Formats: sequence, C-alpha cells, structure tokens
Amino acid sequence: MTLSFLGAAGTVTGSKFLLEADDHRILVDAGLFQGEAAWRRRNWEPPPLDPSTVDAVVLTHAHLDHCGYLPVLAREGFAGQVICTADTARLAEIVLRDAAHLQEEEARWVRSTGLSKHERPRPLFDSADAEQAIALFRPVVRHQVIPLGGEFSAELFRAGHILGSSFAAITRGSTRLVFSGDLGRTDHPLLRAPEHPGRADHFVVESTYGSRQHHGHGGDELAGALDRTLRRGGVALLPAFAVDRTPMVLHEIQRLIRTGKVPDVPVYVDSPMALSALRVYQAALTATDTDFRDEAASDPEPFDPGKLQLVAGTEESRKLNDPSHPCILVSASGMATGGRVLHHLEHQLPLQRNSVVLTGYQVAGTRGRLLADGARSVKIHGRYIPVRAEIVNVQGFSAHADATQMIDWLRPSPPPRTVFVVHGEPHSAEALATRLREELAWNAVVPGYQEKVLVD
Ligand SMILES: [Zn+2]
Repeated sequence: MTLSFLGAAGTVTGSKFLLEADDHRILVDAGLFQGEAAWRRRNWEPPPLDPSTVDAVVLTHAHLDHCGYLPVLAREGFAGQVICTADTARLAEIVLRDAAHLQEEEARWVRSTGLSKHERPRPLFDSADAEQAIALFRPVVRHQVIPLGGEFSAELFRAGHILGSSFAAITRGSTRLVFSGDLGRTDHPLLRAPEHPGRADHFVVESTYGSRQHHGHGGDELAGALDRTLRRGGVALLPAFAVDRTPMVLHEIQRLIRTGKVPDVPVYVDSPMALSALRVYQAALTATDTDFRDEAASDPEPFDPGKLQLVAGTEESRKLNDPSHPCILVSASGMATGGRVLHHLEHQLPLQRNSVVLTGYQVAGTRGRLLADGARSVKIHGRYIPVRAEIVNVQGFSAHADATQMIDWLRPSPPPRTVFVVHGEPHSAEALATRLREELAWNAVVPGYQEKVLVD
C-alpha cells in the first residue's frame, strides 16, 4: 500500500492524500490550493491522478482547502462516493455552491474589465461541476466502519475543528492509518474537544500552528479592538470565514455585549453563505450526539448578540458602505480573497476611525495576510486602496490545535511506525516534527509535495 502527498505538503492548503493498493484508490480530502500564486496555479494543472480510478473520497470537513477540488474531480470523471458526516455534507454544499458562484462572477468581471492576461478567463469550476460533486456526498455517522472498495474501510471520529469535522481512520488488513484532518483545540468555546485517536501504524497530522502556542481565547483582544473602534465612532469590519468563524465570532460578541465590555451596537452579518451556514449551526445545536458543548446547546440564541441584522440582498449590503452609526460588520471571506467583504474593505479601509479585525489564520499570499503584515495599500477590484483603518489580528480565535495540544492528543497512543507532519508552512511542520521526535521519540517526517511512501 502506498501513500502519496498530493497537497498540504510544504503549505497549509490543498489537502489531498492518496492511498493505493491492488488497483484501488482512496483519497483523503480533495482540497483547493489557496494563497501564493505558485500554489494556486496547481489547481489548474491536470489532476495528479486519474479521477475515474478513485474508489472513494473520505472528506474530513467542509473548508475549501479540504473539499474545494471535488468539483474538478467530478467533472474529470470521479464518480465514487464522498464519505463524510451529515453536517460536513450540509456545509460543504454551501461552500462549493458559493465558490462556484464567486468564480463565475469573477470570470465575468475580469472579462468585462479586460484586466485578465487570458483571452477567455473562466472559472476553475462552475455551478454544474459543484452540483455534480454534491450529488456524490454520502453522509455517514461517526464510529461506523464504512467499506470503501478493495480491502479499504474508513471510520470517522469527532475532530472538534468546525461543525461536522472529523478525523479519519483508514484501515486495510491489519494496517491502520489515522489522518487528523484539521484538529480542533480542546478549549473551543462552542465545540466539544476532539476524540482520542487510539492506535495507528501511521499518523498523518496537521501542523498549522506547529510552531506556536495559543494564549487564551481572543476575547480580550477582540473586546479591546471593538471598544476602541466603536467609541471613536467607527465601523469594526470583521472578515470571517462563513463556515464556523461567523457563528464563533457572533457567540463571542454576544458574550462581550452581555458583560458590558463592548457597547450594544447593531451587528450586521453580510454574507449569504454565512447566513446559510448559521442555519446549519442552529439546527445542529439540538441534534442527538451534537458536536456542541452543553453550554452552547442549552442557550436558545447562542449566535445572536442582541441587535443582530442579517443582510441578504445586495442593495442592503451596499447601504452598509456608508453606515450612519458605529457598528460591527461581519462579512466573508475570512482571508479577504473574495466575497462581499471586498467592497466593505474598499469603503472602510481608507478611514482612520475604522478597524479591520482579522479573526482567523491568514494564508501567505492572501489580502488578509498582507493586511496582517502591515501593508499600506491593498489591491481590490483592480485598484489600490489605502490602508488607514486600524488593523487588528486576533490570534486567539484559531480553530486549530496548537503544537502542545497536538502532542497531547497523540501522546497516549502507542508509538506508530511513522508520523507524517503535513498541512503547515515549512517552518511549522519542521517545528512540530522536531518536538514529536524529542518529546515522544516518534519517527516524525515532513513529506515533500507529491512524495510517495510505502505504508504496509
Ligand atoms: Zn479547516
């Protein structure tokens, strides 16, 4: 049996891990590369495998860097099942439809402005491709062994990263591999902690925060930024991932307003995708075996800070370009790579009284990362926009385990033959691998992009 690292090796995005044996192929995650142009270009290259020969995809969760390549695979001939939890299926449908729509719009816009280097700019995938992928979703419950083809089987476990997220154990014969997917932290304010992985012959673990420690929860940092901005009459603009981050940020704003740490101002959520995702979160609160902690599940309105206004239409959205009062504005995408947050940035960045509060990991090469790194102007819709607003990068909202939490998660397991450290910028992956060698004496390896290893 071989394992190939077709993405999230040397970078945090593009997760794709291929297991092959006896002419059967299982792909764990099918994510898009995001951020640096050199990585994004790889989304456009011919698929690194023949999609029609893949038996099944095991999908850990609904983030685009884990599910966003599914429409390309489906269009290019993949017709197997996509195994995931029901909540992952619900959220991934929203994510893929939105991604297709944004790309179609962007291709149209680029065509109309003549800014493209390509003669006929086209989307990487369109709505029809997304629907083709969505039709392949097969929701399963966790802790159920699912036969995948050949001698392969899969089992999902709670990962506590976003709603529905799982880590996956793939078994063939007596060999068990555990893929962490994105692993949540043990102190997520809404979600229950990750389950324990048990024994594995090989682990494949993420290292987004492989060189860092979380310090607290971001609530104080957020409170300070919101309070300062609102008191000087400004708009606090929060680019937030629609899936997970928006519900989490709303929950935190609710707490800050209830405890009087932040003035009670209108909170707008301007992202059609975030509204759809919020409905999925709301419905999942009362599910049996819910992913949510008891405190969240027993709160009738855990995502409503009080004066919550959900913005659906584009006309309403445009009105927020020039709000007449201090307010909090939450909009996607979280790394400012697309979506309605772009036109809000165009209008809010040039004004000193405002702030832009980044609430998630910012991939290198994205506008969010440029802002976090102190850019004085950023290019949006073909124009350079000056950055005069206060930029606050709240680190504490991460939905990823930090290095110590990852090591604590692995520690009770018997030593595997190998632990492959993936899904991190190179220094993060190396830092986590070094700690795994030193603290657990495990055989920790950082695989290269497209590297293939034997895992029997
Ligand atoms: Zn994720």
